[in-house]
Amino acid sequence: MLYKRSSQLFAEAEKVIPGGVNSPVRAFKAVGGTPIFVKSAKGAYLYDEDGNRLIDYINSWGPMILGHAYEPVVQAVIEKAKLGTSFGMPTELETQIAVLAVSMVPNIDKIRFVNSGTEACMSAVRLARGFTKRDKIIKFAGCYHGHSDSFLIQAGSGAITFGSPNSPGVTAGTAKDTLLAKYNDLQNVAALIEANKNEIAAIIVEPVAGNMGCIPPNKGFLEGLRQLCTDNGILLIFDEVMTGFRLARGGVQELFNVTADIVTFGKVIGGGLPVGAFAARSAIMNYLAPLGPVYQAGTLSGNPLAMAAGLAMLQALDTDRAIFKRLEEKTAYLAAGIDKVLKANTVAFTINSIGSMISVHFDAAPVVDFQTAAKGDNEIFKKFFHGLLQEGIYIAPSAYETWFITDALTYEDLDFTIRAIDKVSKTF
Ligand SMILES: *Cc1c(COP(=O)(O)O)cnc(C)c1O
Repeated sequence: MLYKRSSQLFAEAEKVIPGGVNSPVRAFKAVGGTPIFVKSAKGAYLYDEDGNRLIDYINSWGPMILGHAYEPVVQAVIEKAKLGTSFGMPTELETQIAVLAVSMVPNIDKIRFVNSGTEACMSAVRLARGFTKRDKIIKFAGCYHGHSDSFLIQAGSGAITFGSPNSPGVTAGTAKDTLLAKYNDLQNVAALIEANKNEIAAIIVEPVAGNMGCIPPNKGFLEGLRQLCTDNGILLIFDEVMTGFRLARGGVQELFNVTADIVTFGKVIGGGLPVGAFAARSAIMNYLAPLGPVYQAGTLSGNPLAMAAGLAMLQALDTDRAIFKRLEEKTAYLAAGIDKVLKANTVAFTINSIGSMISVHFDAAPVVDFQTAAKGDNEIFKKFFHGLLQEGIYIAPSAYETWFITDALTYEDLDFTIRAIDKVSKTF
């Protein structure tokens, strides 16, 4: 397949947009080459500017769980657009989606809508700090919670006491309030809490990690975090921006039957429009302005187009109760197929998958945290990525990303993908 026009468009974009992209994950830095420019998408397929059709395993990094240009969402947006695109005043639609979200997700009474997952996580942490009157938070290495300052932290020299910025522009002052823990390691978390007694406001976690490839929690990990939080007056924040309305109707809280204090959403909840949200019991949510002292706001928050798209998406997921099972079966089928062909071609690999999330790591050891995820062979991944691209299959241009299975994918698509992986892995 040729990607000639994409390359030309990228060259033009680079002149006026830093790196030619509006979000760095879209660039092909980790794999080389130039990004594909999309013209349109429908169902399981992307159509690019060169006229290629690609099977899409990224799906806008998660939102398009029912496939691209899902008709009820498209119709809802068109209808609402005719009535005005933004008012900065309340609409009935906001209450409708809030009622539905609160009914689907366990353990939340109120929800506030924002414009991105980043905003949701940033606001959730501020709310937790305001509510507990404490400053520090614990996050896990390899978990992503958006690009706000408090989360752009890596292990510092004194990792047990404080983190250090992993981007210029994040101040040391901000970094000192974020402690970095190892995913799936409760002892490490307990030690951090012990060393920072009564200072930690919140633990924020991807309850199923998806930003270092897919890493499900070890048995007892989430339950252990819950217990540590309860014992120490710490709020547990489940960042369900990726997993919410994806792994189950009620997200990971429902799937693993573990209760979080604050939950954040993004991606699926907006049906492909810019939406994020955070939610909790009333006692915590009432701490927000205008009811409470913690300030949080947004000119376009609850925007009617975004709310219409989100409502249509949630209604579809709420109505079709078989969808999550269907997605899980497709993922398991794909995982089994990939396992078989990669084994036959004797390459070292580990496949992690859960629900509609799956990732292939090119290392034989179990992948349970950032350190083990980082052991993957990136040279093989590059060949894998570009090989699949030639076959008309689009996976994320980085080994640290989950693939997303959508309801629009057919078993023929999955078989085609498995055959392509067989072919490509013979060239490693
Ligand atoms: C994507 C993501 C975010 C950030 O959401 P944006 O809408 O990109 O700001 C936060 N947390 C998790 C777990 C994510 O996957």
